Amino acid sequence: MSTPSSSIESTLVENRVFEPSEAIRKAARISGMEAYNALCAEAEKDFEGFWAQRARETLTWSKPFTKVLDESNKPFYKWFEDGELNASFNCLDRHMGTPVENKTAIIFEADGGEVTKVTYKELLAKVSQFANALKARGVKKGDRVVIYMPMTIEGVVAMQACARIGATHSVVFGGFSAKALQERIQDAGAVAVITANYQLRGGKELPLKSIVDEGIAMGGCDTIKDVIVFQRTPTACNMVAGRDSFMHDVMEGQSTDCPAEMVSAEHPLFVLYTSGSTGKPKGVQHSTGGYLLWANLTMNWTFDLKDNDVFWCTADIGWITGHSYVAYGPLAAGATQIVFEGVPTYPNAGRFWQMIEKHKCTIFYTAPTAIRSLIKAAEGDEKVHPKNWDLTSLRLMGSVGEPINPEAWMWYYKHVGGERCPIVDTFWQTETGGHMITPLPGATPLVPGSCTLPLPGITTAIVDETGNDVPNGAGGILVVKKPWPSMIRTIWGDPERFKKSYFPEELKGYYLAGDGAVRSADRGYFRITGRIDDVLNVSGHRMGTMEIESALVGKTDLVAEAAVVGRPDDLTGEAIVAFVVLKRSRPTGDEAKAIAKELRDWVGKEIGPIAKPKDIRFGDNLPKTRSGKIMRRLLRSIAKGEAITQDTSTLENPAILDQLSENN
Ligand code: ATP
Ligand code: MG
Repeated sequence: MSTPSSSIESTLVENRVFEPSEAIRKAARISGMEAYNALCAEAEKDFEGFWAQRARETLTWSKPFTKVLDESNKPFYKWFEDGELNASFNCLDRHMGTPVENKTAIIFEADGGEVTKVTYKELLAKVSQFANALKARGVKKGDRVVIYMPMTIEGVVAMQACARIGATHSVVFGGFSAKALQERIQDAGAVAVITANYQLRGGKELPLKSIVDEGIAMGGCDTIKDVIVFQRTPTACNMVAGRDSFMHDVMEGQSTDCPAEMVSAEHPLFVLYTSGSTGKPKGVQHSTGGYLLWANLTMNWTFDLKDNDVFWCTADIGWITGHSYVAYGPLAAGATQIVFEGVPTYPNAGRFWQMIEKHKCTIFYTAPTAIRSLIKAAEGDEKVHPKNWDLTSLRLMGSVGEPINPEAWMWYYKHVGGERCPIVDTFWQTETGGHMITPLPGATPLVPGSCTLPLPGITTAIVDETGNDVPNGAGGILVVKKPWPSMIRTIWGDPERFKKSYFPEELKGYYLAGDGAVRSADRGYFRITGRIDDVLNVSGHRMGTMEIESALVGKTDLVAEAAVVGRPDDLTGEAIVAFVVLKRSRPTGDEAKAIAKELRDWVGKEIGPIAKPKDIRFGDNLPKTRSGKIMRRLLRSIAKGEAITQDTSTLENPAILDQLSENN
């Protein structure tokens, strides 16, 4: 970790403010800033009492907890530990006998457009049947199960079935390689893998089962007793006798009744690896009680969920967003949600807009990377512009995964939300389990590019490298001062790395998020300025990567996406290198030089001469993690002209590295 030695100067000023409309405010659960402030005050006055009440109201416990927070072995905090519950029970059984029972739980749209719906009652039956099948195969409480599945109803069923019997799942994104899968199986010591023969993405049939075979064959996976295969397509796949079986076969004849195994609130619900944007992925262990509390409560707070909402989170179940806001949160909250198998650009880049219209989606939650690429597509081709679809069903939109550049925010607000829908820019991490800093749709005035204020009970702050608060307007390190129920419990099998990564001694025991941030002088709003490892120091001026990137993306007629890194420089200490994807094709030669000059001058005008990139390189794309985040650590090596020796296991598009290296 390298922490800033002085405060980060922030020069990007954002004056646009969007107040919640009277109608939205009136209808909201947390209505107006007074209501938000009252909740914050309640948490401050009686921290444990605040969380205890939320946990009792939000979840169904088979055995009530008597103690709220155990800090005796910090930073290994425990929440509600002597309480017992089951996550799947709280997502499914709890709704039986209520109006939610016959409500649609999942609207599944396949890659090719076919739609399948299941009600809560039907989902419970499926989950129970599969849970019984797992038990029959010998999977039991405490076992780890790796899930390597496409976005399907069965993917959610697999996760819920594990939770139902107290097995700890570890979902591995279906785009990962055999090697990445093998490492995760080994690290978790998994007893079974649940997969599919193939997955369908963008009109292509892509193998999953053969990758599982390959991964296991790499060795060290002797703990695996079972591989259960969901037959997604009719195509045959290799089946190993004695080890492999089909999901439909193991479920056949199993009862649709499977009483949920009640576990301690601290029982590990899952282990999930981080995206790998800043280094080797970490196996984040989450609890059952605290995690589910926050997944459910944030559905009601951040998304202000209503009975008739059609919620759509586009994240894959292989990421934390797909855990908290596909597999658990929406179900615990009794929502109807869309699960989408395919990709946003197939059969064309209007797919998301078409699906919103078709399913009358009311809440849409996606990532800046998707928004930026759909802007580029819409501006290149009128036919896929959102204006071609009726998006009036939308009432709320969200963003997650990276900072959203103000200009991308404005486009999303205008062209998707019709200047009617609030945008909740939710800052959070795999480690935090659920939202941390986000606007509340019926309360918080919105400022483009700002995630605004922490949720009630969440004690985020900005400090210097010794843990002292910095004043608003000055940037620093984002921390969380007090524990919260859905926080990471440990790094699976590596408690030392957990302590070192998240609770460094010099920060007074605060949780270190790893991001830099600044609070606005007027409202105290948070804005993420970039990863702390990415802070630039140019001639003694400290700058976050984010504001230079946003200035570049603010040149809306030209720039689709930008990533900024530093490179050692004799004269200025560090020089700014920008990697830019244009809305038009990638320029070369003199044309590239002319555009680079135009962009340099633009940044000089927007932020100041000090922020002008010394070097601008153009690419068809940027190196991204498979969850769609820019991997600046790789760009740093390219900017320095170094060979890349770092972990690239989660890199989506390795070929782009050569292209970006070549045009020095
Ligand atoms: P790794 O920890 O392995 O480097 P990662 O941090 O990208 O990967 P995730 O847990 O998926 O893994 O992502 C969390 C990070 O995503 C945050 O620390 C932050 O940098 C970024 N992020 C998420 N949401 C937002 C947001 N709304 N605004 C700004 N940044 C965000
Ligand atoms: Mg991280």
